[in-house]
Amino acid sequence: MAVVYLSLGSNEGDRQVTIQKALVGIEAACGRIAAQSSIYETAAWGLEEQPNFLNMAVKIETTLTPIALLDALQQIEAELHRQRVVRWGQRTIDIDIILYDSELIEMPRLQVPHPRARLRRFVLVPMAEIAPEMIFPGTNESIAEMLEHCPDNLAVHKIA
Ligand code: AMP
Repeated sequence: MAVVYLSLGSNEGDRQVTIQKALVGIEAACGRIAAQSSIYETAAWGLEEQPNFLNMAVKIETTLTPIALLDALQQIEAELHRQRVVRWGQRTIDIDIILYDSELIEMPRLQVPHPRARLRRFVLVPMAEIAPEMIFPGTNESIAEMLEHCPDNLAVHKIA
């Protein structure tokens, strides 16, 4: 059984409902949710005209291999996108694999730890809520320390 941390984000439609549906899909297809952070609201990176994101982190226990897990998560993303259709394929949900045990994975389709995780407060703030002491694989830093040193200064507010 692998312990995996996922980051979820949604910035279109009913963002809370989308995130809840993604969590149901994750439990059904990937494995038990062992911990989940609060939901946070974050200004969108880069494009200012985009609506704000809701973000959260979850810890799951899975028997899926990393690639099988990525396939399952992409299937959940596709299903949630399809339900919202209507607008030119804009993304309603993004699910990233942040950590998979302490594995370091460098494949064309999958890099773990997620290469941009440590640069983004919207990933680290929710992660720090559920695993502050955990050492980030490939570094000597805990998640909490990594958050202290994070260069990103976008505001990340807890909403629920
Ligand atoms: P994005 O559009 O930002 O969600 O990126 C999706 C792409 O990132 C997919 O093609 C994945 O194969 C790739 N990818 C690489 N590493 C990861 C990861 N750790 N978690 C999720 N997707 C990943």
